[in-house]
Amino acid sequence: MTKCVIIGAGPAGMNAALYLKRAGIDVDIIEKDVPGGEMLKTDKIENYLGFSSIAGGDLALNMFRQIKDLGVNIIKDEVLKVVKNDKFEVQLTTDKISADYVIVATGRVARKLGVLGEEALVNRGISYCAVCDGAFYKGLDVAIVGGGDSALTEALYLSDICNHVYVLVRKELRASHILQNRVKNKDNITILKKVQVSSFNGSDRLTDITLSDGKNLLVNGLFVAIGGMPDLRFLNGLDIDMKDGYILTDDKMESSLNGLYAIGDVRYKNVYQIITAASDGAIAAVSIKEGV
Ligand SMILES: Cc1cc2nc3c(=O)[nH]c(=O)nc-3n(C[C@H](O)[C@H](O)[C@H](O)COP(=O)(O)OP(=O)(O)OC[C@H]3O[C@@H](n4cnc5c(N)ncnc54)[C@H](O)[C@@H]3O)c2cc1C
Repeated sequence: MTKCVIIGAGPAGMNAALYLKRAGIDVDIIEKDVPGGEMLKTDKIENYLGFSSIAGGDLALNMFRQIKDLGVNIIKDEVLKVVKNDKFEVQLTTDKISADYVIVATGRVARKLGVLGEEALVNRGISYCAVCDGAFYKGLDVAIVGGGDSALTEALYLSDICNHVYVLVRKELRASHILQNRVKNKDNITILKKVQVSSFNGSDRLTDITLSDGKNLLVNGLFVAIGGMPDLRFLNGLDIDMKDGYILTDDKMESSLNGLYAIGDVRYKNVYQIITAASDGAIAAVSIKEGV
């Protein structure tokens, strides 16, 4: 029987699993963390067709239940390496799985600012996920770095918990108008444009940050929301065409390495959203089924 291993249980991987299982293909999905991926970092999702508004955790749980009810085999483990001989060999921390096809759906990891003091203060005032850590800053002053949809979504979420939220934008806001308008209507959000963080200060915990204009901002927490980058070290040694750190695919989601597909945020493309991740998963699964 044809065997397919999907690496990552975000919306891309879970939708690929749904389509493959329904097509009668033997599929394992490997997830190192909790199924849901970046949806779990999202307080409210308002642009996934069919749901006017849904908590990210609820959408993730719905998807998870749907594939579990279908009988998809979900393995909690991390993929450390993929090797290709006649077949693919997917190496986990405790096991190895042989597969005819591999679908990479591992998304991205949050990008760091790379600023003085950042490494030492991670989880001591510096965070990369407002939904995960926001509650620690109840009633306090915090800042967010970033000007895109994710940054403003996080600012709105934190404004309901924190005393004041500063949004630090390198140039201009890039977020959608609907989010910009909501932020304007919040008394406790201040947008500071054309500023960057020069240093994070504090010995044990973050106490304040120094900005590129020389001013100091007293904040208890700082959330970095400047996007992410794929971490594809587990593919080292395979000959796969990449662009800017992302996997290049054809319109069937297949990479330059025959039998290895890439879907969702790990793929080089224009729109990085839940609905496009799910769509990539469906396309990869149908393409694999057609080739069987
Ligand atoms: C704060 C925030 C808000 C957002 N808001 C929205 C929104 O409102 N609407 C919208 O459409 N999109 C939103 N997005 C973007 C959306 O969440 C992503 O585009 C989408 O989740 C990408 O799906 P994916 O399946 O490609 O990757 P992910 O969701 O990142 O899932 C990848 C999975 O792979 C797993 N994994 C990684 N490496 C390995 C490994 N080696 N072995 C095993 N498992 C591994 C990870 O643990 C993770 O579960 C938001 C993103 C963020 C950060």
